[in-house]
Amino acid sequence: MNKLLKALIFDNQLTLSVLDTTDMVNDAIKIHGLTPLTAAALGRTLTVSTFMSSNLKNKSDKLSVTVAGGGVGGKITVCGNGDLQMRGSIDNPTVTLPLRADGKLDVGGCVGKNGRLTVTRSMGLKEPYSGSAKLVSGEIAEDFTSYYALSEQQPTAIALGVKIGKDLTCVGAGGVIIQALPFATEETLKKAEDIMANLKNVSTLIEEMGAEKVIEKYFGSGVKYEEYHPEYKCLCSKEYIEKLLISLGKPELDDIIKCEGEVKVKCQFCQTEYKFGQKEVDELFK
Ligand SMILES: [Zn+2]
Repeated sequence: MNKLLKALIFDNQLTLSVLDTTDMVNDAIKIHGLTPLTAAALGRTLTVSTFMSSNLKNKSDKLSVTVAGGGVGGKITVCGNGDLQMRGSIDNPTVTLPLRADGKLDVGGCVGKNGRLTVTRSMGLKEPYSGSAKLVSGEIAEDFTSYYALSEQQPTAIALGVKIGKDLTCVGAGGVIIQALPFATEETLKKAEDIMANLKNVSTLIEEMGAEKVIEKYFGSGVKYEEYHPEYKCLCSKEYIEKLLISLGKPELDDIIKCEGEVKVKCQFCQTEYKFGQKEVDELFK
């Protein structure tokens, strides 16, 4: 089960979030046919986006994240809401790259660092809020740390990890994210930095001990936390696709039917294919 544990730590000076997104990454692998490399790139982005979604005020508020760094994987898109229903895609799900010299997946090469990451939050009827930052390394955690510092002026420490087993399923994925509240002291920040420096292999920690034990081991057994259950869930529907088609206009759709026999629309996030014949297209414009 996917988990997000949230707590206030060190005299309520910091917020701590520990995520186990193993099942979410496995759902993404199954839907998109991801390689270990693209699973790591999309999985890390899904994980940090789950954290960001948990900071939305209302369950119906929406988050959308794009990471476009010009790497071999192409653009990553992740969407979510305050209810922690997450979905994502990557342009080139089947690419691979040689392992780095240290034996790790070359996520930086997959994502690239020549570009930006953009975060958009939509809250009800208000104008959507959008912020962006230049990518630092394409390794995702560093990029979002930089985004928080530059675009949101929020000191944030982020560790993310996705570990893929021999059978190409994800055996451990998650993250540890700490944010400083405005009154956090230098001493507390130093303490948090030291802990994060020791938290190198988050995916292995999640695999071997789970999110609860990570809190206990690194932040003490007395930490009280709230538990949430994020999931990979696409919210597309036939009605939603119909609205998109109507916005294209009937002549365009008639043209497609003439050439291809039917209108096929595949959802980018769950790969569900919606098909519309002439009769159904006519119905849409009645
Ligand atoms: Zn879908």
